[in-house]
Amino acid sequence: MEKRVYQVWKGNNKFLFGGRLIFGPDARSLLISILLILVPVVIFCALVARHLRHEFEAYYAGNAISVLAVALTIWVLALLLVASARDPGIIPRASHPPEEFYNESSASAEGGGRQTPSVPFSRTKEVVVNGTAVRVKYCDTCMVYRPPRCSHCSICNNCVERFDHHCPWVGQCIGLRNYRYFFLFISSSTILCIYVFAMSALYIKIIMDDEQGTVWRAMKKSPASVVVMAYCFICLWFVGGLTGFHLYLMSTNQTTYENFRYRVNSRANIYNLGCLNNLMEVFCTKIKPSRNNFRAFAPETLQRPPMVLNHEPEVDDTGGEKRAKVEDDLEIGGDILKISQRHNFDKVSEAMDVRSRGSSETHNDISDPNFSLGSHQQVRAR
Ligand SMILES: [Zn+2]
Ligand SMILES: [Zn+2]
Repeated sequence: MEKRVYQVWKGNNKFLFGGRLIFGPDARSLLISILLILVPVVIFCALVARHLRHEFEAYYAGNAISVLAVALTIWVLALLLVASARDPGIIPRASHPPEEFYNESSASAEGGGRQTPSVPFSRTKEVVVNGTAVRVKYCDTCMVYRPPRCSHCSICNNCVERFDHHCPWVGQCIGLRNYRYFFLFISSSTILCIYVFAMSALYIKIIMDDEQGTVWRAMKKSPASVVVMAYCFICLWFVGGLTGFHLYLMSTNQTTYENFRYRVNSRANIYNLGCLNNLMEVFCTKIKPSRNNFRAFAPETLQRPPMVLNHEPEVDDTGGEKRAKVEDDLEIGGDILKISQRHNFDKVSEAMDVRSRGSSETHNDISDPNFSLGSHQQVRAR
């Protein structure tokens, strides 16, 4: 029987509804995240907001507090699900290494080499991004040259474009196609935290005024408010801190991965287009369509068991053992940094003729689907 792409998928993802939704392997943690949001809101609505209904002269003002809390929660959960269930920007795996590998392998075969992965082929390439040469690496697992800013997630076992990090709370990689929703999720969660905290504090204040007692007596009267406030206070450090950190990352056009690995400063960061343009890039550009059609019927080679694949004559055993290894491109960004710091403007000036810094075409060029297939367009083999 013909199988679909998601049924023969080599990454560690989980699929739902016949491949319509894609999650990370740790998608179960998503349920915990949902409960961590839902339970405190239910407690707040049932034990705090319910009493606040009678505290305002206008009947609707009291009700509005609960309604707003529920609406915000639905919004937060929807963003969480969207960030979690969509393709984060996975680069489809190639079924064989790029053609040039074979060429280079045969060329060096003259020198006594074999046509195997041990033959030193070009594992890096230089591409020009915003007028600066950037070295990109070949991924043994996915058998593609990774576009700049792409990284292989060891949890999902996929190369992901503009890889930010793998979020255990969302249970998915955060990358090119879901970063916007991820940021809206954490920032909306921050607002929800502040709102629930403030309304619980308001209730404590109302009890204090009504009973003319101390804050301790008021807290004793409504322990639910205290629990909810304490919970929101702790969460606020987490989601609020994360929101602040990502605001900084977005305004300087860095990913979490780049920031943690290389501490790219804004001067050396070749992707920085200025604060406003960086924010526009995250929020106002059209999100690229997925490169994967999980529901399409898989090409036949993918449906064969891997053991058989290794013995196929047309599939060169190039990459046999190496392919199994999960490669992380820890050094790439370092290279980017070194390259950009080197200010290698000789090479740059040639490139500047065709592209200006920050032009949108540059982004299209580097994300050209041909790129991952080893196209020589704007790519120089090293
Ligand atoms: Zn990969
Ligand atoms: Zn991942």
